[in-house]
Amino acid sequence: MILVNDQFIPRENVHIDIEDRGYQFGDGIYEVIRVYDGKIFRLDQHLLRLERSAKEIKLVLPMSIQEIKEKITKLIAINNLSTGIVYFQVTRGVAPREHSFPNNRVSVLTAYTTEKERPLDKIQNGIKVVTTEDIRWLRCDIKTINLLGNVLAKQFAIENQADETIQIRNNIVTEGSSSNFFIVKNGNLYTHPANNFILKGITRDVVEEIAQKLGIKFIEQEFSLNEVYKADEAFITSTTVEIMPVLQVNDTKISHQPGQITKTLQNEFSKLL
Ligand code: PMP
Repeated sequence: MILVNDQFIPRENVHIDIEDRGYQFGDGIYEVIRVYDGKIFRLDQHLLRLERSAKEIKLVLPMSIQEIKEKITKLIAINNLSTGIVYFQVTRGVAPREHSFPNNRVSVLTAYTTEKERPLDKIQNGIKVVTTEDIRWLRCDIKTINLLGNVLAKQFAIENQADETIQIRNNIVTEGSSSNFFIVKNGNLYTHPANNFILKGITRDVVEEIAQKLGIKFIEQEFSLNEVYKADEAFITSTTVEIMPVLQVNDTKISHQPGQITKTLQNEFSKLL
């Protein structure tokens, strides 16, 4: 079943209007939420971020955060989701095609669940990433469904036999196409500051929490690709990939196996599930 506004509907009965502003302008916001064994991971944080994204693009949510929470919980139960994800989006609704906002602000909410196992093989064995110029707009902190820059970046990885593309803006490493990026140097964690150039990941926040607990320094600081090449360890984080070691960046090997700090963080992370 699919959640459409406040109704649960079979997928074949869901009809999205050709003049939905999400469809025509990418005018909407979204969240991807993890479910482990039927339990939702960090739902409150995702909903806080959703609320912020809505505010930043002046989108009026069709119901309260508390109601959204109840609907998502019900959706997971109805679909009997064990381990997987909830995809949740809100667009600025249906109106004759005009760039400016429609007067009748009736946003359209859709959500559905997908079974998805944890990518354990890559979590254990690590991945290769490539890099490209960050061509996205200047509000990457908003989780908008307008993802063309991210789509092109991810496709670049696939075309270069890599798992993810790390983006670089003005010689500064920002983030992956759908993940945050970290390096480890001399036992300290480094990641891009949470400003308008990156999405502040929920998993990134979890890593910060774990680092604080373990006394590992979490340093939000800009760094270049050259510093990545000299790092002791590297990893990406996201809701779907969790904490995933990066062993190779372009043609440079960072480490031959997942590093000690990365493994320690992964170990603490799995205790939270
Ligand atoms: N950056 C971008 C561009 C993303 O798409 C994602 C995945 N939503 C992330 C970072 C990681 O965010 P999270 O940990 O909340 O999934």
